[in-house]
Amino acid sequence: MASVHVTYKIFKVQSRLTLSRAKPLAVLHPASAEDIAGLVKAAYESTHGFTVSARGHGHSINGQAQTTHGVVIQMSGSRGKRLVSGKPALPLVYEKEKYIDVWGGELWIDVLRSTLKYGLAPKSWTDYLYLSVGGTLSNAGISGQAFNHGPQISNVHELDVVTGKGELLTCSKEQNTKLFRAVLGGLGQFGIITRARISLEPAPQRVRWIRVLYSNFSSFTKDQEYLISLHEQPASKKFDYVEGFVIVDEGLINNWRSSFFSPRNPVKISSLNADGGVLYCLEITKNYDESTADSVDQEVDALLKKLDFLPTSVFTTDLLYVDFLDRVHKAELKLRSKGLWDVPHPWLNLFVPKSRISDFDKGVFKGILGNKTSGPILIYPMNNNKWDHSNSVVTPDEDVFYLVALLRSALDTADEIHNLDYLSNQNRRVLRFCDEAGIKVKQYLPHYTTQEEWMDHFGDKWGQFYQRKMEFDPKHILATGQRIFRPSFISSNVAL
Ligand SMILES: Cc1cc2nc3c(=O)[nH]c(=O)nc-3n(C[C@H](O)[C@H](O)[C@H](O)COP(=O)(O)OP(=O)(O)OC[C@H]3O[C@@H](n4cnc5c(N)ncnc54)[C@H](O)[C@@H]3O)c2cc1C
Repeated sequence: MASVHVTYKIFKVQSRLTLSRAKPLAVLHPASAEDIAGLVKAAYESTHGFTVSARGHGHSINGQAQTTHGVVIQMSGSRGKRLVSGKPALPLVYEKEKYIDVWGGELWIDVLRSTLKYGLAPKSWTDYLYLSVGGTLSNAGISGQAFNHGPQISNVHELDVVTGKGELLTCSKEQNTKLFRAVLGGLGQFGIITRARISLEPAPQRVRWIRVLYSNFSSFTKDQEYLISLHEQPASKKFDYVEGFVIVDEGLINNWRSSFFSPRNPVKISSLNADGGVLYCLEITKNYDESTADSVDQEVDALLKKLDFLPTSVFTTDLLYVDFLDRVHKAELKLRSKGLWDVPHPWLNLFVPKSRISDFDKGVFKGILGNKTSGPILIYPMNNNKWDHSNSVVTPDEDVFYLVALLRSALDTADEIHNLDYLSNQNRRVLRFCDEAGIKVKQYLPHYTTQEEWMDHFGDKWGQFYQRKMEFDPKHILATGQRIFRPSFISSNVAL
């Protein structure tokens, strides 16, 4: 067994935005992939048994990166040599091949900083960059580029993974294929990603960032669906990013995801004739650089002409590509300064099939939410053919599906609608509504507590998910905070 040169510290590990806390037996700050392999092997071979959970940046909200019966591996911020004997140190940009090799705990913001030195950047993003590569690849990693490039898990060439048996394996579509597919979107169940090879493209210099408003939901979704249908068109004939959000609050359109509309020029829903008190904002961007700067206005205008938004509601700004990608961090800093970041976030993220999105609008945005919200509500469609369904992630079974993200923050205020119980209860009502209305949603960043619920979540894919688990983590040691499998050494009457 490889020797493990680590210090174990015992302390409480918690997510910053989490709804739960757990105390592990120890925390490992690995200096290399081999440290991780040594620890997992020790857990696998141990007679008493202990669990091992990789913690990326600890941003999942339901304790998915925690464990009470073993060791948490702190992947982000491990500033060790990040070496496997005989292999070069990371990060490593391959300029000609257009990919980068990064440590599994690297934050996406640091991936971006490394690639920009070569004029390159990853193609597919999350809205927030202070997330780890291993953490987002264990889910999917989505943002407004996903309609075009697919999720982040569709943009990975190769991984190094420590399986639940403590083997350190390289996998790709050609080599150890089953492991590669299992790990992408695999919720940390099959192995710990220690290295990822991520696809790159030439980095744009600037971004034209545009928001337009709709009072009519079907016009809004028709336009979003039209824009994502252009994914096979040349770059000049499509936007680079398509998202959107719902505005149910009377008052400012601003929210923490949107440092965009000027606070001195607040947009009031009442001034825009919103249907049912709800407005919809389409958010699009066009990337450009010196060589395309002259044509960007024309290209944007040609695309906007095809859309049916409220004519007086075009808001445009222009910024550096890196500032656009890092936009949510700016909002984070503002919230932190007001003490509003480290609060519980009872978030609910759903993939909603296109055929039922208007029922969802009526039942949830115009129904259950009752014109009040405590945070941003994102809504944008994606093309299912950009997702590789041999990976572990599950999506609705339609060509197009929407992400609907209720990203609310719970506050301890007198106003009941902002408190944690109220918002958690509202999330349950949303799920119940979908169930009763037969809207076949899939949770993104899923959270369930029983295996029956997980079986239902994975549907037809459950058998394959289970088999892969038996092969790569037969003792159910890894990522027990997801509560999918119970470790073989923990009896059923002990809480996970
Ligand atoms: C402000 C904010 C904005 C967000 N925006 C987006 C967004 O736009 N798009 C999007 O897709 N998601 C978004 N997310 C969700 C985010 O992608 C997930 O919560 C992700 O899991 C967080 O990454 P992390 O590094 O903090 O992972 P953690 O929470 O630390 O871990 C998540 C899971 O992955 C496992 N894991 C962690 N590292 C590894 C590894 N190296 N190998 C194997 N398993 C591992 C853990 O054990 C755990 O089960 C956002 C989250 C926040 C807080």
